[in-house]
Amino acid sequence: MSEQKNQNNNELKEDNTLRPSNLTEYVGQEAIKENLKIAMLAARSRGDCLEHILLYGPPGLGKTSLANVIANEMKTNLIKTTATSLKRVIDLFSLVVTLDEGDILFIDEIHRLDKRVEEAFYSVMEDFQINIIRGSGRNIKAVSIPVNKFSLVGATTKAGLLSKPLRDRFGLVFSLNFYSPQELIKIVLNAAAFLEVEINEKEALEIAIRSRGTPRIAINLIKRARDYASVYKSGKIDSSTIQNTFESLRIDELGLGEEDRKLLLLLKSKNGKPLGLTTIQAILNEDKTTIEEMIEPYLLSLGFIEKTPKGRILTSKGFKYLIEKGYQEEGNNLF
Ligand code: ADP
Repeated sequence: MSEQKNQNNNELKEDNTLRPSNLTEYVGQEAIKENLKIAMLAARSRGDCLEHILLYGPPGLGKTSLANVIANEMKTNLIKTTATSLKRVIDLFSLVVTLDEGDILFIDEIHRLDKRVEEAFYSVMEDFQINIIRGSGRNIKAVSIPVNKFSLVGATTKAGLLSKPLRDRFGLVFSLNFYSPQELIKIVLNAAAFLEVEINEKEALEIAIRSRGTPRIAINLIKRARDYASVYKSGKIDSSTIQNTFESLRIDELGLGEEDRKLLLLLKSKNGKPLGLTTIQAILNEDKTTIEEMIEPYLLSLGFIEKTPKGRILTSKGFKYLIEKGYQEEGNNLF
């Protein structure tokens, strides 16, 4: 096996074992956890399944991890799939007939469900039955096949793209928030313990504040710092490891990277004129999803950009930051 493949496999294994397995290990999102606890207790006391749950928020905030936690807390199976792998109605039906009573079915990117699959899903979600039409002409017959009662956990980065009938079929809808630096410090320290790399709280904070409020980024950054420490140091992540890691990744103190700077500088060059997503995409040569899901949410949360009906603009806060940091068009030194 190639070295790259080996490293990817190891990272995949690490990712799975780094996932929190219960509500105590799941850091932050306190209001969601509180509501979930009540819903789980109530379902258990009724001897019933949990209601269907919709989780939404930017990538890496812990939607899949939360589905994992829910299945563990309910002591049931978790069956994971993505909307794009349920291409045909038959794919959906073949999956739901295999579910046991109480199973958690996790569907990632649920806003991408094919329209026909989505419509076929309504009766499955609501009445736990598959409705099919048999025969043709005068012999046409509607047949209903019952399936075991299960809980659907749908995850989406774009709740706005969900149709109303689908959205209305979720009993619980939770929006995940960006994490505070204090919460991210916990995640970094847990990951460090798991990865068996030494780090102090001060350096954990340095990673936390560059993680864009996102656990997945925090974990990736500590892995990069670990790599740096294992190559250049004695395995400990100290302040010079942190500084060198971020310099080589070209990430600044707010966690802004090359793509963020490019977008901010592009908007600055328009002197307050709004720019539409398609134009931004063409100029930056990035795909829309990356811009909308990975770059913009954090810049919006920092108050550096604003979305107006006519497009994106740089705010005065964003402008001030660019000036303060001396960020300029490409070719100039950013550090
Ligand atoms: P999403 O499904 O929203 O894209 P994931 O659940 O895959 O995000 O989370 C990305 C990584 O971040 C996971 O590997 C997990 O280890 C970590 N993580 C996410 N949320 C939390 C949390 N609340 N507490 C601890 N670790 C978390």
